[in-house]
Amino acid sequence: MYVGHMVEWGESDEVIGNPQHPYTRLLIAAVFDPSKKGQAENLQPKEKMDIPLWRADSRGCPFAGRCSHVLDKCSTQMPDVTRVADNQFVRCFLLKN
Ligand code: SF4
Repeated sequence: MYVGHMVEWGESDEVIGNPQHPYTRLLIAAVFDPSKKGQAENLQPKEKMDIPLWRADSRGCPFAGRCSHVLDKCSTQMPDVTRVADNQFVRCFLLKN
C-alpha cells in the first residue's frame, strides 16, 4: 500500500518472492541486510524522497513522484489492476493486462 492505495497484493510468498511493483521492490530492497555494504547508496535519488500527500485533487499513479520508471501517463492516469500470477495483483503501467 502506498499513500492509501493498494499497489500490489496477493499471497505473501509470491509478492515477497517476486515483487512486480517498483514500490514493492523498493520496500524489499530496504530490508536491512548486514552482509550488504552500501545498501542505501544503491537507491536512486527519487527513491529517497519523502512520501507525498494524496489529496482529493491528486491524479495519476500515487508513486509517480518517486518512481525511477515513470512514464508520461503516470502523472495523469491511475493504472489498472494487472493479474501477474494466480494470486498476485499489481497496479502499474509497466505490466500488461
Ligand atoms: S504506474 Fe508509472 S509511476 Fe506508477 S509505479 Fe508504474 S511506472 Fe512507476
